Amino acid sequence: MRRPLVAGNWKMNGSRTESAALLDGIRKGISAASRAEVAVCPPYILIPLAAEKLAGSPAVWGGQNLSVHKSGAYTGEISGPMLRDYGCTYVIVGHSERRTLYGETDAMVAEKYGAAQAAGLIPILCVGETLQEREANQTEAVVARQLEAVLDQHGIGSFKNAVIAYEPVWAIGTGKTATPQQAQEVHRFIRSRLTARDKTVAENTRILYGGSMKGSNAKELLAQPDIDGGLIGGASLQAEEFLTICRAAD
Ligand code: PEP
Repeated sequence: MRRPLVAGNWKMNGSRTESAALLDGIRKGISAASRAEVAVCPPYILIPLAAEKLAGSPAVWGGQNLSVHKSGAYTGEISGPMLRDYGCTYVIVGHSERRTLYGETDAMVAEKYGAAQAAGLIPILCVGETLQEREANQTEAVVARQLEAVLDQHGIGSFKNAVIAYEPVWAIGTGKTATPQQAQEVHRFIRSRLTARDKTVAENTRILYGGSMKGSNAKELLAQPDIDGGLIGGASLQAEEFLTICRAAD
């Protein structure tokens, strides 16, 4: 049985005060008995606050990105060991905003995935097609290319300690959600690519859906057989909305 995971990607949002209230709200609302695992990925600077507010709760926290290097003269970067040092469990790699706005290639994403695991973090590997690629019937080819870049470099065994997030770029922050059927089709496809390498790993790997998931559409998406949770952007910035999704994942 795959344990569902609901992870909030706060992106570049939140003052210290707002974030403290959000973290308090999440802590208060999650139940230790919940089947779903809950994670928040705040901006780097707010990770110590998340660590302080969530310590001893069932929720865990993570980063949104990491350097491929462990330490050294890399101004502005944060490494995997630094995230680990602040108690991070997860780190998002290859988010579409990193790929498009910061030019991260499949090879760079694969390198970050390896750096995360080397530091003892669980990478949440994001894959997904743009609207143009979907309309050109390229969805499977794009997702396969993004996935194979990591599989070829790190092997199927590495997925014992990784999570995949299918995030159609056209659904991120747009309010336009993939239908449960559209999402399920791609999730099934991703799992089939893993199955081709190792059936057991494929059955145990969690594949999250991301793209305008919110309280009102979470249940239907999460009911799909190959959707094992969500990577949540906008809706993770309000405790009640985020908690509604977490409960739907239960
Ligand atoms: C995301 O950025 O990972 C995301 C899914 O954003 P949103 O939920 O706002 O579409």
